[in-house]
This record gives sequence, structure tokens and C-alpha cells, in this order.
Amino acid sequence: MSGDTGKVVDKDVVIIGAGAAGIAAARGLQTLRPDLSILLLEAGDRLGGRAWTVGLAGTVDVALDLGCGWLHGARTNAWTDIAGDVGLTVDRTPAPWNGGRQIKRDEADVHAAQEAIGAYFERLESHEGGDIDMAGMLEPGNPWNGQIRAIGTYITGAELERSSVVDYKRYDPGPGPDWRVREGYGTLVSLYGKPVPARLGAEVRRIDHRRAGRIDIETNQGTLSARAVLVTVSTNVLALEKITFDPPLPEKAEAAARLPLGLADKLFLRLAHPEALPADTHMLGSTSRGATGTYQLRPFSAPVVEAYFAGDLAHDLEREGRDAAFSLAGDELAAHFGADIKKGLSVAAMSAWAAIPHIGGSYSYAEPGASDLRGRLAAPHDGRIFFAGEACSRSRYSTAHGAYETGVAAADLIAGSFPQIS
Ligand SMILES: Cc1cc2nc3c(=O)[nH]c(=O)nc-3n(C[C@H](O)[C@H](O)[C@H](O)COP(=O)(O)OP(=O)(O)OC[C@H]3O[C@@H](n4cnc5c(N)ncnc54)[C@H](O)[C@@H]3O)c2cc1C
Repeated sequence: MSGDTGKVVDKDVVIIGAGAAGIAAARGLQTLRPDLSILLLEAGDRLGGRAWTVGLAGTVDVALDLGCGWLHGARTNAWTDIAGDVGLTVDRTPAPWNGGRQIKRDEADVHAAQEAIGAYFERLESHEGGDIDMAGMLEPGNPWNGQIRAIGTYITGAELERSSVVDYKRYDPGPGPDWRVREGYGTLVSLYGKPVPARLGAEVRRIDHRRAGRIDIETNQGTLSARAVLVTVSTNVLALEKITFDPPLPEKAEAAARLPLGLADKLFLRLAHPEALPADTHMLGSTSRGATGTYQLRPFSAPVVEAYFAGDLAHDLEREGRDAAFSLAGDELAAHFGADIKKGLSVAAMSAWAAIPHIGGSYSYAEPGASDLRGRLAAPHDGRIFFAGEACSRSRYSTAHGAYETGVAAADLIAGSFPQIS
């Protein structure tokens, strides 16, 4: 198709990033405007981005999600229906925070912890006035502050001191419980992306939008041109200006820098003696420390433990390596089940999201005062450079279905930006 300059452009629409947002946008455009030529460019070697499922060696039916795992707001989460459409199985076992099985602890302690945690989150919800950080709502000296801190890091991926109360209050994953995809959330997102024309290993470095009617996209595989571009890369990639815009778009890098990615990493431990642990049961490593893991024992009855570390602890463990993570998880499991439990443990898989150069972390949080920047990040530029991705969602940021929704919204805008076919 020809641009206004008379020069031929390679594609009508180029989408940068094959995560949940980029794939949703591409599939949306394929439906809305089958007349447009589209191409998905992905720097990594697979579809899915932060949705990534790996197998367990020696098994055929165990799926380990290194990234997203829970279909939050599952009843209204678009991925729930898509899972059915592509032939995957949605598992409705309640999540630990929705009445799922928990390791037994002293009842008085559990009650006291629940009261303190409930009161903390109520204080957040009822906060009025200017934005402050989430640590500002802790009650000094409360003995459950360690546990509240731990939960805070699992939610935002960052220490409470860095995260905005206003942004937390805006979070709304939608109605419905949290379910899982038996074959993996990553499997689901990548399967859905299969029908999209995509180029893997294609790292975009520069977007030249100086000319009318044509945008040049420089990649490690050469230069392409398009009439519209959709950017879905993470905020850490945007903030580091790994993609440069010409002319520059400083408002995007500035917004992204104040909506950084928190960090959460998963360590999957293989169990030589699975019967030593209860199936599909949740355990918190420590009830007093903020720097502790949270553990899903034998998810789907598989012979594994899924350990989850977040915030500064996750950064430390990425730096120190998998032996350090293995040792911490082994100690925290041994504290509940006895030292013998360690004998049958080995590392099956571990994520290191901060170290993945094209992603750089796990999910976005807002610094105090920065929640409104999600809107600035999402705003199209000049009617032809569009933005999507989890961080662009005002209320479903940090989720795969929030990313999906921003992709669909961008597809609508892009479809409308091209002359309609009669
Ligand atoms: C450990 C962990 C647990 C999580 N748990 C959940 C959960 O239970 N439920 C939930 O809903 N969400 C969860 N999330 C969050 C969810 O995975 C993300 O919000 C969502 O997948 C983000 O999708 P996205 O399309 O916005 O970004 P991404 O998935 O990051 O996609 C962007 C893509 O752009 C590519 N890219 C970057 N730079 C370039 C470039 N220069 N050129 C070309 N391509 C480039 C990247 O490689 C990437 O594939 C979790 C995430 C992690 C890491």
C-alpha cells in the first residue's frame, strides 16, 4: 500500500512486542480490518512475553508458568473464554486467598494476622486526599507489619515505600475469582498468537516518524516501514530508551520511568517424594519477615513446589543466583516440614525477569503521584504511533488480561485511523 509520500510502505501496521497486549491487538485488527497488512515484531525467540510456560523434564503434562499464572477476575477475564476456544482447560480450584487450602497454623495467630492485614488494606481503601506511599499506612509497631510488607511486595513487586496508594486503590481486576489454565497461561497466550504474522528475534531500535504517511522502523534485521505503529514494550524498556523515537517522545520515557516494573520471580522445586507435601496447598514462608517466599505446594498435584519471591528479596536472589533461592526455599520449607524435606528437593526451573533485556522486570507499579501517568503512557501520538501493554491500563495494570484489554483498545483506535473500506 502507498503512503502519502508516494513511497511504498512494507506494512500498514507494525506491532512491536508479542506479549499479551501485542497479540491481542494483532488478533483484534485481523478481525476488524482484514484488509490491512500487519506484522508483529518480537525481540525474543518466542511469543508470549511475560506469559511463559515451560515443561517439567521427564513429564508430558506438567506446565510451569514462569510468568503470569492466575486468571484474575476470571469470570470476566477475556483469556478465560479464549482458553476454551483454543481447546485448553480452565481449572477452577479456589486460589489460596479465595478460600483455597492453606497450611494449618495456630488459629489465634491466623486470626490476629487476618485482622491486622484486613485493617491495613481497609486503611488503604479509605485513604482520601493526596497520594502517599503504601508504607505510610502501616501502624508503627504492629507485629504483623512483616507479613503486610511481604503481601505488599507480591502485589506490586516493590517495597511499600515505593508504591502509590492511589494506584493501589484504582486496581480492579474485574469480578470473578482467580482460576488457572491447566496447560499454562503462557501456553494460552502464545497459542492465541499463532495465526498472527510475526518475526521473532527482531529487535526494534529506532522509530523514525519524521515523514508524513510513513514510519521507518529500524531493527537488528533491517529497516521496515509502516503507516501505523503500536508499541507494547514494558515500561522498563521504554524508560531506558532502548527504542529511540525520532523526533523524540520524552513524555513517554518520563511516564514509563515513574511506572517502573516491580520484580517477582518464581522458583520451581522438583519433589522426589511428592507424598511428603499436601497437594494444592499454600504456605507463607515466614509470618514475621517481609523478605520471605510464598509457596504453592504441588499445584495441580504435580511433583513440584512453586516458590514466589518479590521486591528487594527477588532482586537479591536474582543477583546471588539460583543456589541462593534454592537454599532460602529449602530452609523455609524445612521450618514447616522438618529438615528431611530438603533431601528430596532439586531445582526444576527458575525465572529471572529483571535480567531479561527486553522485559526487565515483572509488572508495573506507580510511584506516589504517578498513577495518572498510565493515561499519558497510553495516549497515541500524532494518530499513528499507538501504545498498549499492562502499564497502560488504569485499573487492570500488572495483569495479562489488562494487557489484553489495552491491546484491543489500541486495535480499535488503529482500525479507525485508516480510511474505511466501502
Ligand atoms: C512472575 C510473574 C507473575 C505474574 N503473575 C500474574 C498473574 O498471576 N496474573 C496476571 O494476570 N498477570 C500476572 N503477571 C503479569 C503479566 O504476565 C503481565 O502483566 C503481562 O503478561 C504483560 O503483557 P504485555 O503485553 O503488556 O508485556 P510483555 O509480555 O512484556 O510483552 C512485550 C514484548 O515486547 C518485546 N520487546 C521488548 N522490547 C522490544 C524491542 N525493542 N523490539 C521488539 N520486541 C520487543 C518483549 O520481548 C515482550 O515479548 C505476572 C508476571 C510475572 C513476571
